Amino acid sequence: MSGRIVMKTPLVEMDGDEMTRVIWSAVKKELLEPFVELNTEYYDLGLEKRDETEDRVTVDAAEAVKKYGVGVKCATITPNAQRVEEYSLKQMWKSPNGTIRSILDGTVFRTPILVKGIEPYVRTWKKPIVMARHAFGDVYKNTEIRAEGAGKAELLFTSGDGAETRKTIAEFDSPGVVQGVFNTDNSISGFARTCFEYALGEGKDLWFASKDTISKTYDHRFKDIFEEMYENEYRKRFEEKGITYFYTLIDDAVARVIRSEGGFVWALKNYDGDVMSDLVSTAFGSLAMMTSVLVSPDGKYEYEAAHGTVQRHYYKYRKGESTSTNSVATIFAWSGALRKRGELDGNKDLTDFADRLEKAVLDTIESGRMTGDLAAITTLDKVERLDTFEFIKAIRERL
Ligand code: NAP
Ligand code: MG
Repeated sequence: MSGRIVMKTPLVEMDGDEMTRVIWSAVKKELLEPFVELNTEYYDLGLEKRDETEDRVTVDAAEAVKKYGVGVKCATITPNAQRVEEYSLKQMWKSPNGTIRSILDGTVFRTPILVKGIEPYVRTWKKPIVMARHAFGDVYKNTEIRAEGAGKAELLFTSGDGAETRKTIAEFDSPGVVQGVFNTDNSISGFARTCFEYALGEGKDLWFASKDTISKTYDHRFKDIFEEMYENEYRKRFEEKGITYFYTLIDDAVARVIRSEGGFVWALKNYDGDVMSDLVSTAFGSLAMMTSVLVSPDGKYEYEAAHGTVQRHYYKYRKGESTSTNSVATIFAWSGALRKRGELDGNKDLTDFADRLEKAVLDTIESGRMTGDLAAITTLDKVERLDTFEFIKAIRERL
């Protein structure tokens, strides 16, 4: 086809599983390939291919994102015992997102996609709240012990030269539980830097919240690292941009977030970010109306949908039944990646196309044409409930 937009640098494309894999190819065929001469380096992260390559393909894909700077990823199955049987896997491969994160060392930013007719449950929210979740350590890399009876639990650190620091955690006189967690200054600094850079890039205020009044060493370290970096490297740039950074206790942050009108970046520790981003995305409407991007401290970007492979819909699809799966998050993963690629390459045609694609998606929904998940919660009067493929076709008509 002539007149299609040409891409200078390849985009790292990571295909995935189940319903999102079906949507992936439909989106490419209907919404991307007719307009863009797609230049991608393709990695198949579908479970069969991961098994066949002993998960090498996931590592290769992450390395490619490091090399080219921008990737787009389809949702993938994280195998459990049932999947090992279903796909006759050689072993229970690790979460691809976990593998990619550990290679890129990043922070996950999630932003709700706002559209007229899908109203947030919180009346004051007018603009998106971007969740910035630290994706390393804490309870996700914990060590736990069940204390079977009376005894003493201690925290022991042995430094490189053999010196010991020892503290009593608890003297048990009956059974209980003990947990050890950690983080590193390196990872926390990477998290802080990525948040400051992201807020600057987006021109949005940055909030950071933790529980430093109770956790006077652990959480306080996070607070200090953010503060030092802000004062030494970012305050001036923030002031020039007319945005602010502030730290507040997480309880205070929760109250302020609910009363706010949105429009800021909310940075949170790993567990807080996990729970709060589910809460915030649900309060904004739907998990399928959420963008997600992993940003590494050295400025590499990986775009994905925030939801999973929508297994239940896939089984219906395989039986030949009609499905009404929402492709918005997958389309926005592509538009986000193409826009970033365009920005980095100075390719205005590509960034303009990303804008047009997103506008076509939002206009389609605002005209009342949407998938079942949105039709169930919309405040619009005239609604046409479309199946998975009709919805993509409706966007194509607008494009
Ligand atoms: P899921 O795929 O997000 O689906 C959970 C439910 O949410 C669906 O059954 C559906 O509800 C609704 N839903 C999610 N996305 C939707 C969409 N685009 N359109 C319409 N409805 C949507 O989560 P899961 O069922 O827990 O996980 C399935 C697989 O995905 C698992 O193997 C898991 O490992 C994987 N997963 C991958 C990622 C990732 O790669 N980023 C993230 C999470 C999970 P109804 O069925 O009620 O319609
Ligand atoms: Mg969660």
